[in-house]
Amino acid sequence: RYTKEQNQKTVIYDDALDQIIRTETDIVHRLKSAISEETLEVWYQPIVHVKSGRFTSAEALVRLPDGKGGFFPAGQVIAFAERGGLVEALGDYVLGHACRFMSLYAHQLELEHMGINISVQQLLVENSADHLLEVIRASGVPADRITLEITESVLIQSIEHASSSLDQLRKSGIRIALDDFGVGYSSLNYLSNLPVDVIKIDRSLTRQIYINPKQRALLHSIVEMAKINSLTVVSEGVETKEDQQLISASGVQYIQGFYYARPMPQEKAIRFLAEQNHKNK
Ligand code: C2E
Ligand code: MG
Ligand code: MG
Ligand code: MG
Repeated sequence: RYTKEQNQKTVIYDDALDQIIRTETDIVHRLKSAISEETLEVWYQPIVHVKSGRFTSAEALVRLPDGKGGFFPAGQVIAFAERGGLVEALGDYVLGHACRFMSLYAHQLELEHMGINISVQQLLVENSADHLLEVIRASGVPADRITLEITESVLIQSIEHASSSLDQLRKSGIRIALDDFGVGYSSLNYLSNLPVDVIKIDRSLTRQIYINPKQRALLHSIVEMAKINSLTVVSEGVETKEDQQLISASGVQYIQGFYYARPMPQEKAIRFLAEQNHKNK
């Protein structure tokens, strides 16, 4: 009986694993086609500048159609792209599209910055900075409009190998953002030593901040530390009026979150930004 149960477990486990592998194979396959057929989508989430109340910034986010009218979760797509050797192709695609978007519309929409996520693998290949700069230049957008976002934990792990590329990018005017700050082993100490210009405070740190005084204190320390180091602070994932009010008063310069705007397809983002920035004049 014991053996039988064990066997059943094995069978169940195999089915689950099989399902995961099939999903991964499916996503990698769809991603490859979507890149070559240019059906991979880049969505934009407007970001508000607290002082002026205007949407002067946005983040580009990849959207891979799932064939059923929806999209695969971006985090999963990135993870599979990294394992499947597709992360550079995906990265170039998103960077190229987002830079062309800026090149075409930044002026008319009064967008000052565009954030584009990059995987650390994109930074670790040879001549990575030259390559990224080439993609940016080809789009015609000035480098100082572009912020490359790198997840904090990943950047810290690879900082030794990534720092020369980061230095080169920053010398060319690109801003570097430390993404998802506050997840894992963040330390306020290294904010003074890292080659970054912006920190994006993760949602886990600011969620329901109105009921948690310890979180509020932590947010204030981060804002103070950022000020001392001349870093720009963006607060991610703000969903409620209560959080928005406290965070706006905390000294962060920018707020990103569903409270203000969700990520949206390019055409919708153009309409949204044109309307909002016109209204707020
Ligand atoms: P991220 O860079 O931290 O991007 C912000 C994520 O938070 C986005 O999820 C966005 O939709 C979500 N978000 C924004 N506001 C709110 C809010 O108020 N509440 C909640 N619950 N969520 C909010 P998304 O688009 O699913 O992307 C997930 C992650 O996948 C990104 O996190 C980023 O790490 C990665 N990613 C997305 N696009 C790309 C890309 O083109 N290249 C790379 N390398 N990574 C990407
Ligand atoms: Mg990001
Ligand atoms: Mg983030
Ligand atoms: Mg995040």
